[in-house]
Amino acid sequence: MSFKSLNLINPIIRAVTELGYSKPTEIQYSAIPHIFAGKDIIGCAQTGTGKTTAFVMPILQLLKKYTPEHKEIRTLILTPTHKGAMQIEENFDVYSKYLPLSQLSIYGGVLAGGQLAALRKRVDILVATPDRLLYLDNKRHIDLSKIEILVLDEADRILNMGFVNDVKKILKLIPQKRQTLFFSATLPKSVKKFAESILNNPIEITI
Ligand code: AMP
Repeated sequence: MSFKSLNLINPIIRAVTELGYSKPTEIQYSAIPHIFAGKDIIGCAQTGTGKTTAFVMPILQLLKKYTPEHKEIRTLILTPTHKGAMQIEENFDVYSKYLPLSQLSIYGGVLAGGQLAALRKRVDILVATPDRLLYLDNKRHIDLSKIEILVLDEADRILNMGFVNDVKKILKLIPQKRQTLFFSATLPKSVKKFAESILNNPIEITI
């Protein structure tokens, strides 16, 4: 199995080759074809398996298909922690090196001013902790009405950290017609039930 056989485009293959990765990891080759097919996904995968790249690469490719005239945020990634948000943004930075897409991460623990200013510029992909997203949306409306893809990263931690009501509020701000990718290290009943309430006919992948 190679990155090329996953039908990834050259700008992404170039970026991944420069990182020195020779082949996709299990979660990557299991999830990417379904993401390209427009399916919702429940991916049960631990940190360290390459699960971030499993959604970063296909999202970049799916967004690339559209015209550059898009001005609104088109993908939202929700993640529970400051550190997670920074790591996901870094992944998007690396894999979008040869693509005209821009990403921003917003999280708590730092002053909001810089993040509000950054939101005034073009953002294709927004990575956010749920609480900071709602806080900034209260300060200045963030247009989430054109979101095409929603990712919940570390969904079990999002729920364990008490963000369930924040996530429910955010779901009301984004279109119902969207692709949703749900990644979690563990899948206890409560997490699975929540996944099923927000996903449409998901493909379940456990590695
Ligand atoms: P994650 O599970 O997303 O936290 O990723 C864990 C680590 O695996 C990160 O340091 C990635 O850069 C690395 N990684 C991602 N994809 C691959 C790959 N195809 N081959 C080897 N390492 C990878």
